[in-house]
Parts: sequence; structure tokens; C-alpha cells
Amino acid sequence: MTQHAFQTEVQQLLQLMIHSLYSEREIFLRELVSNASDACDKLRFTALTAPELLRGDDTLKVEVLPDAEAKTLVIQDNGIGLTEAEAVEHLGTIAKSGTKAFLQGLGDQAKSANLIGQFGVGFYSAFMVADRIVVESRSASASSDAGVRWESRGDGQFSTETISRAARGTTVTLHLKDDAGDFLQGWKLRELIKKYSDYVAYPIFLPKYVSEEDAKKVVAAEPEQVNAGQALWTRPKDEITDEQYNAFYKSACRMWDEPATRLHFSVEGHQSFTALVFVPGQKPMDLFDRERRGLNLYVRRVFVMDDCKDLLPEYLRFLRGIVDSDDLPLNVSREILQQQDTVAKLRKQLVKRVLDHLLKLASSSDEKDQAAFTAIDASFGAVLREGIVNDTENKERLSKLARFASSFSVADGKTGKTGLEDYVKRMPAEQKSIYLVVAASIDAAKASPHVEGFLKKGWEVLYLTDPVDEWVVGHLNEFDKKPIVNVAKGQSDLTSDEDKKAIEEKAKSYSGFMGFCKEALDGDVSDVRLAGSLTDSPCRLVAESEGVSPQLEEMMRRMGHEVPSQKRVLELNADHAVIKRLQALHEGGGDQPRLRDYIAVLRDQALLAEGAKLADAAGFAKRVQDLLAAVVGGGEAKAAAAAT
Ligand code: ADP
Repeated sequence: MTQHAFQTEVQQLLQLMIHSLYSEREIFLRELVSNASDACDKLRFTALTAPELLRGDDTLKVEVLPDAEAKTLVIQDNGIGLTEAEAVEHLGTIAKSGTKAFLQGLGDQAKSANLIGQFGVGFYSAFMVADRIVVESRSASASSDAGVRWESRGDGQFSTETISRAARGTTVTLHLKDDAGDFLQGWKLRELIKKYSDYVAYPIFLPKYVSEEDAKKVVAAEPEQVNAGQALWTRPKDEITDEQYNAFYKSACRMWDEPATRLHFSVEGHQSFTALVFVPGQKPMDLFDRERRGLNLYVRRVFVMDDCKDLLPEYLRFLRGIVDSDDLPLNVSREILQQQDTVAKLRKQLVKRVLDHLLKLASSSDEKDQAAFTAIDASFGAVLREGIVNDTENKERLSKLARFASSFSVADGKTGKTGLEDYVKRMPAEQKSIYLVVAASIDAAKASPHVEGFLKKGWEVLYLTDPVDEWVVGHLNEFDKKPIVNVAKGQSDLTSDEDKKAIEEKAKSYSGFMGFCKEALDGDVSDVRLAGSLTDSPCRLVAESEGVSPQLEEMMRRMGHEVPSQKRVLELNADHAVIKRLQALHEGGGDQPRLRDYIAVLRDQALLAEGAKLADAAGFAKRVQDLLAAVVGGGEAKAAAAAT
């Protein structure tokens, strides 16, 4: 016998599970039955190319066997089985990337406890009801003297030893805790199998009871099939209840939340397939694992592979469910799949149907649909928007799904978002473009000098608070033939031809002052000009049209890219009292060093107003102090400070 220690994460998981999921501990049965069903799936698939593995025992099944005397519950299958090495690996570690990362980053256990519901706990959940678990198994490809016996009390370690075992498959024996006696009762087990595992494609057998009243008496010889035993997706939609769909989601997709929405459809004809796809209600742990795809592939009801990469683009990696193809060959491998034209066509159909379904939700007047779409956008909106950049074919659909905050959606204390279609509907006739500003927060966007002219005019501005969205929208360029314009870039559309003339006129008298500003800022700005779009602010910094914004620049730097700092243009509001006064001071040949400080302060406050960081915050503070001292009276202030 060999002793092994559980991987640290397994120990943590066991701890967490026992403390946080205790009230739902009945789900252990669903987890073990799902594992048994998966083992049958795997054997059926492997046997396609190696039929000898079935060795006469080709009726794959799951058995659930309570023993009231011994206080044990057995879950048994004649599926693929485990070798000793597999048992050590699969029943001693956690493979799922998201789960492992989550557990490694665990801080406060109490806080994390309610997070545990976000991922499957699988086999280990059985330790909620059992104080000792024995697994005996033999791999379909191993000889009868190469079986394995695995045993653990869930206390940090487990043992394995080689045994001989005539039957292929796995027997899991749970030695139930004293307070888990419920799970020995036939009616209870039947209820749980119906509730969680009805759809499982293999028969699940329970021993038959003499009568309902006398549920404890078991006629062992006559097992009875409890589940419907038909793959859920093969049944007509109108015969499947929400509960059955949700049970399938939790059980077959190993999810713990309630799905936000589902889509079940069949495509007939050239490419026949059925899909049952769910959008999770919460972000799955592995959302940022870009390699992950949540769809399992079946071919004519036979399970072929999980996590099938070729069925979905990266930006739909959060979907969960199954695709059952009628046209693919049964012996497909991952490599073959990539080259199959059939798969590319299937994927195209699938993506289109999923996006159309989401669009339908988004435009539905039904409150439940609306709420579902809002939840989906909150969890997966940013991931979906990646598609605008990567999936040119569905760019239009995806741009209609994108939601952003805007001056309209957050006006008057509202917290909503808007889609581009609704934005366009609200555009007044004279507004030709869609406007956006990029800022660190909604508040910063609202206060940004770039938007004030637009708001005064009653034109809506999109508030992009995620720099990724600037990159996404940059790929969109236009929507519904309306150009999408960053208000912090280039010349403003707000300036009419008349205004432009007036500005040109004014610029003549300002040219000396503007030249001085440029020189005073020592090459920090590429140019100084008069603004047409400012109302309340004295000045703003604008990027040239083709440049990236400072926010995106900053983000790219954080990601390790070398981005040269782009100089911006300082635009002055010639109607602002401060600018007028400064210009007059300059004309009068006033105190030049102080004037330079004023201009530096102006530039810095323009940066602060748009929520950007100052390169020289200390210099700014010093200049503001000097300014205050000049206004309040420097000598007195200094003396007062020294006295205290
Ligand atoms: P999951 O099923 O989500 O991968 P589990 O902890 O439930 O996680 O199971 C871990 C692994 O142990 C499975 O992926 C499978 O490889 C193996 N396993 C569990 N139960 C069985 C079984 N009845 N037959 C064969 N292998 C099994």
C-alpha cells in the first residue's frame, strides 16, 4: 500500500466545501453519477476504434446501491475505469486551471466560502456525506490483476494499492457519516436521481423496493431503471422544463449557478446538428483562460470530446453546453477537427445563432429578458466586445450588442448603459457623428473639458471607462454609417464655419501669447491654438486625430509595450476670463517667470480635469502653493506656519 498526500489545493477545497456547501450536500450524488456517466462516455468513444475493450459487457450503466446495515452507499459504473496512476492523479489533485488559481489566491477563508459555488467540486464533494471513501477500479485496457484500490478519510492523505478485479469500471463506496442516513433511503435516492440526473444517457439503476411504504426492504435481484435515460437535447423543446434544463446545466456542464439564458436548437439539411448552449449567470472561474471553450462535442449521441476548441471563437469562451453533430465522422480527433470543413460551417452557424439569440434578448421588451441581457453584459460584455476586433464577419451583430455608459444613460443619477442603435435614434438631425470620451471613471468623463461643449449642445457622448473599449471602438470606426469620433482628438465638430472665422480673427491678436505658451511649456505640447468647443474650461489638451489617447498609451505601457509619448495640442478658450487676463498680462510684458508658472498650472489642471496623471505632481503642488501665497499673502502665511 502506498500513502499519498493530497495536493494543497485539494485540502483547501475539502475544508471550504465542508464549511460552505453543507446545506446542499445532496449534490454529491449528482457529481458521482456525472463522473460515472462520463466514464461510460469515454469507454463508448474509445471502443469505436478498440471494440475489444467492451469484452462482451456492452450495456453501459450506472448503479446506485444503498446498504442500510453497513451504512454504505455505492455508486458503480462499467465505464472506462482508472489505472493506479490515474487514480493518484485524478483523485489527488485538481486539474481545472481556474479552480487552482482561485484556491492559490485564497485570502480570507470566510469571505471565500460563498465563492465556492462558482466552480464544480466534483468527486471531493462526497466527503460532505462520507467519512471514508473507497474507490475500486479497473481500467478497460488493464488486465484483471491490475486494478486499484484507493482509500481516504478526507484528512489530507489517501492510500492506493494494486488489487485484482474481474469487472471493468469503477465502484465508489461511501461510508456515510452518522448524520447522512437519509442517503440510504430508496425514495430519497430516487428523488435525487430524478432531480439531478434524469437526462443522463445511460440507465441509472436502483434496487427495486417491495412497496413504497416498505422502502427499506430491498429486492436486490431486480434493479430498476430510475432515470428517463435519454439525452436531454434529443427531446422536443416543449417537453423539457426549466428545472430539467438547469439540472442538465449544473450536472453535465459542471456549473453551480443558474444560467442567465439558454439556446436549444437543431439545424437540418446540409449541416445537421443540435446544440444546447447556456450563458452562465456568473463569471466562470476560468473566464480568463483564453484556451478554454465550454462546449462538449457529440457525434450522433456519442460523446467525442469536451472543451472543444474548434466550435467557438475565443470571445464566446464563456458559453457552456453541447453540440451534437450528425455529419462528423465518429473517430474525429482534435487535429482532424481543425481541418474539417464541416466544423467550420457548424461553427459559423452556431456563432450566428448565439449572437442572434443575444440580440433578441437585448431588444426584447420582456422584463426577464432585459434583466438577463443586463446580467450577461455585466459579466461578459467586455469579452464579447473582443469579437468586434477579431470577428469581422460578425462585427455588425457584435457592435449592436455592445453597451456603453453615456451622458444620456448616466444622467440624473441613472446608472444604465446604452447600445449604439439607441444612441443613433436619439441623435438630433444636425449631429453627424457618434462621440466618445475615454476617462478613468464616469465622474472623470462627466467633468472632462472635452465633453462640456457637447453636453451644452445636448449631444450625447459615450463614456468609455475601460481603455480596452477605446481599442475596440477604434476597430469599429463607424456605426450605421456614422463616424465614431473621440472628442479628445482633433478639431471639434462643434465649431461652425462662422465660429471658425471668428476664431481665426481672434487668433491674430493671440498669436504672440500662444507662441509664448508653447515656448513656456518647453516643447511639452506640439502646438497651441484657440479652441472652438470649450465653454467653462480655460483650456484642454487634444490629441491629433490619428494618435492614441493617453489612457490607451498608459494601458499599453502597463502591458509591456514601448509606446512613445505623444505630444498633444493645447487649446485655449479665448472667451475665458483667465485666458483673457493672461493674454493681457503677456501683452503688457508682465512678470514673465510668474506667467510661465501660470501656464504650467493651466496645462496641469487640464490634465487633472480629464483624469490623467501628472508627470511632475510635486512641481504642480509647488506652483499652486506659490500662487496661493501670492493671493493670500505669502509672507504672512509663512510666518503663521512657522509660529504653529
Ligand atoms: P471532474 O469530473 O470535474 O473532472 P472530479 O473531481 O469529479 O472532477 O473527478 C476527477 C477525475 O477523476 C475525472 O475527471 C476522471 O478522470 C476521474 N474519475 C472520477 N470518477 C470516475 C469514474 N467513475 N470512472 C473513471 N474515472 C473517474
